Amino acid sequence: EQRQRLLVVANRLPVSAIRRGENAWALELSAGGLVSALLGVKQFETTWIGWAGVNVQDDVGKESLSRALGEEGFVPVFLDEQTVDLYYNGYCNNVLWPLFHYIGLTQDDRLAATRGLEAQFNAYKRANSIFAQVVLSHYQKGDVVWCHDYHLMFLPRFLKEAKSEMKVGWFLHTPFPSSEIYRTLPQRSELLQAVLKADLIGFHTYDYARHFVSACTRILGLEGTPDGVEDQGKLTRVAAFPIGIDAERFVRALHTSTVRNHIQELSRRFSGRKVMLGVDRLDMIKGIPQKLLAFEKFLEDNPIWHDKVVMVQIAVPTRTDVHEYQKLSSQVHEIVGRINGRFGTLTTVPIHHLDRSLEFYELCALYAITDVLLVTSLRDGMNLVSYEYVACQDQKKGVLVLSEFAGAAQSLGAGAILINPWNIVEAACAIADALNMSETERQERHRHNFIHVTSHTAQLWADTFVSELNDTVVEAELRI
Ligand code: UDP
Repeated sequence: EQRQRLLVVANRLPVSAIRRGENAWALELSAGGLVSALLGVKQFETTWIGWAGVNVQDDVGKESLSRALGEEGFVPVFLDEQTVDLYYNGYCNNVLWPLFHYIGLTQDDRLAATRGLEAQFNAYKRANSIFAQVVLSHYQKGDVVWCHDYHLMFLPRFLKEAKSEMKVGWFLHTPFPSSEIYRTLPQRSELLQAVLKADLIGFHTYDYARHFVSACTRILGLEGTPDGVEDQGKLTRVAAFPIGIDAERFVRALHTSTVRNHIQELSRRFSGRKVMLGVDRLDMIKGIPQKLLAFEKFLEDNPIWHDKVVMVQIAVPTRTDVHEYQKLSSQVHEIVGRINGRFGTLTTVPIHHLDRSLEFYELCALYAITDVLLVTSLRDGMNLVSYEYVACQDQKKGVLVLSEFAGAAQSLGAGAILINPWNIVEAACAIADALNMSETERQERHRHNFIHVTSHTAQLWADTFVSELNDTVVEAELRI
């Protein structure tokens, strides 16, 4: 049976290319939420289209990279350095990302950025049209084109203008903010109009979808219906499609000897102490300082736990060249230093803080031995770390302490202890409750989440989105 062709278009390909010679390339699979989700998808004949993360100027390089990537089912989009700076660093990372995560760029920051905004937005549109050209050159009739994330909000428009019969879906991996926040964006209308050209628009949660529909009704004056947004009889479907993980991959990993050895080693290291864990990119949205302050408060209030608990924080470096991120890094280091200074002994410290990523097997082992996972995101589209933890906990049945501002709170809320990460008193109590929780309660909570994580997988997510997209197009044809 022939599988349906699916073109996945995302800003970044799931590989980083490193040049080893004039026409020699090394390809490195990169980590991240979207990547692990889509790698789990097997039911389509998938071609990925995206930027490879390198600046390639020469034709020899472009051809050889295209060939190397082509063998893996990847198609590169080439962007010049200036476009990357204005489109990616500028409009995507400094405008849309903070706005969609309610990050308080100060009034001064926003004012300072205002005059450069037009050039960034033009580069954003230019980059989106370059993506569109590449998609069009690979498109065959009947293909489903699935555009991903805030980087590519103009793509549905450019694709539909070129080929109105193309099946186009768009999915946002971040939150979509309240329309009260969104409407401060100078380019608010153009972006909405462009993305509304898609047949189907998806979000992680019902709240994000609702915010999007409100933005369309309030800003564009369109009609919101239970199914989506209507413009002169044309309906754009809007719905929630919560992403999942390839849970099997984690469960399988736990049985490998590599992971079992790591588990033994870690258990020996931390023997006699409960292990609490945080795994985050070092990003302001993750609320790492808030998490540390809550842990400090917990230690203050619970002296009997001082020698009996250790918190491991994996802080994966991200955007290390950006001032705000450097500031966050020093802030975190300062708090870690203070807490370890206050509560450490000659032989132990309460916090193990790592400024690096772990490889997959190490991460699985760490998830497996952890008693309490702490997710304190201030805003987070979904948060897959919480899913991965649950997948690795069928033995131990540890506790998930989860921010209500992560999309995952909508799906894992019943099994997790939900907290407002800004409330460190509440978060400190949640830590104590989690550490003291009875085995019966842990089992019950874990069971709930484990069933969810193993049944709502990445495969199901992609399958559901694409089927819905196919159906939407059929229904639209019937309406005409
Ligand atoms: N991750 C990883 N190595 C690490 C730490 C994290 O590969 O050392 C992965 C983790 O397994 C997860 C992803 O990074 O799949 C983080 O996804 P999440 O949705 O939690 O947050 P994001 O970073 O996308 O905001």
